[in-house]
Amino acid sequence: MPGTFSYHVPTKLHFGVNALTDAGTLTRPFGRRALVVSMPVKSYLAPSFAILKKSLEDAGMTVSLFDGVVPNPTLSSVEAGSRFAREAGVDVVVGIGGGSVMDTAKAIAVGATHAGSLWNYIWSSDTQPTDKTLPIVAIPTTSGTGSHVTQVSVFTNEDERYKSAIFNERIFPDLAIVDPTLMVTAPAEVSAPTGFDVFTHAFESYIHANTSPIVRTLAREVVGLVGRYLPIVLEDPANLEARTQMALADTLAGMCIANAGVTLPHGIGMAVGGFYPNIAHGQALAIVYPEFVKYTLASAPDDFEMLRTSLAPAAASPQDAIETFLDRIGLRKRLRDFGAKASDLDALAVQCMVLPDYQANPRVASAEDMRAIVEAVY
Ligand code: NAD
Repeated sequence: MPGTFSYHVPTKLHFGVNALTDAGTLTRPFGRRALVVSMPVKSYLAPSFAILKKSLEDAGMTVSLFDGVVPNPTLSSVEAGSRFAREAGVDVVVGIGGGSVMDTAKAIAVGATHAGSLWNYIWSSDTQPTDKTLPIVAIPTTSGTGSHVTQVSVFTNEDERYKSAIFNERIFPDLAIVDPTLMVTAPAEVSAPTGFDVFTHAFESYIHANTSPIVRTLAREVVGLVGRYLPIVLEDPANLEARTQMALADTLAGMCIANAGVTLPHGIGMAVGGFYPNIAHGQALAIVYPEFVKYTLASAPDDFEMLRTSLAPAAASPQDAIETFLDRIGLRKRLRDFGAKASDLDALAVQCMVLPDYQANPRVASAEDMRAIVEAVY
């Protein structure tokens, strides 16, 4: 019998092929002046940006553009966006892009209306965003981080090599528009790590100390969807059915992390991201996963059996299943493959224990365990 639990995601979701064309009517209630946040508008983003801009303008809105988002956003990049928003004087922030863009949009919604450095608002700080936070519309182009339905905005303090996050109810997007046609342009180098990230959100929420029956039901569905549709997306990027199923999985997985959270792999993956911004977030997680499975398996054998049957049912063990799946999606790598240095490992292992995520794992790592895991994935 389940114990007491809560479930909460306040974001209004509009989902479907060509859903982007409805952006204007859905965003107009938040104000007249929109700030669109994105990476540089060229190539793949140009057609979606044009649809978004037209839809907002047709609804009577003015559109400013901040297109200075960088992958794995930095404190200086989110603060540059906040300054831009203050000068432009906007009512609503609309992020169109991957997790880096949506997280930047959320940070800008805080930074445009709150004084001081945005680093003062990270999860561990006494200072937190207030109801002055601007309304947020999130439009994902990857599947993905789930950021369109979470209360999280991740960015890195580049001076401290520390990747952390604002974690606050106020930055749940007010509206998420999920249009799978926006994802078909993503090449395998983008879809593989982002798709693996979806799986990790679901599986870590499934085993999290704060999981619940709702989260576990959603998570089980997500792991099955990723196991089935991510390989299809990689083989056939224009397959709209597979893109739609991955977008659905991404959204459900975001709802999982918003209500449970992530565990040991993200504790390590975030630290890796702070040290090595060149490693995509999902790739950092993929580097960690085989060792995480080995370390945690005996503490939650039934949960890992779900992983095996969903990802690679023919595999002899959960360990074999994750390695087989990572081989299949091309992410079976080590830290050293990305230029990591052995001399960083002591400091990296310490950083892995700064975020509390690792404590929610079925097996909680000691400092010695963490050092050994980091060594093993190097
Ligand atoms: P990303 O946003 O950094 O994008 C990666 C690359 O993909 C970029 O170069 C981008 O230009 C390209 N791209 C994006 N969409 C594309 C498309 N449709 N076609 C072609 N190219 C495309 O990657 P991401 O994995 O979506 O986001 C990673 C960030 O999100 C990390 O900082 C991570 O820590 C964070 N994150 C946040 C949450 C949250 O809840 N807020 C959860 C997980 C991860």
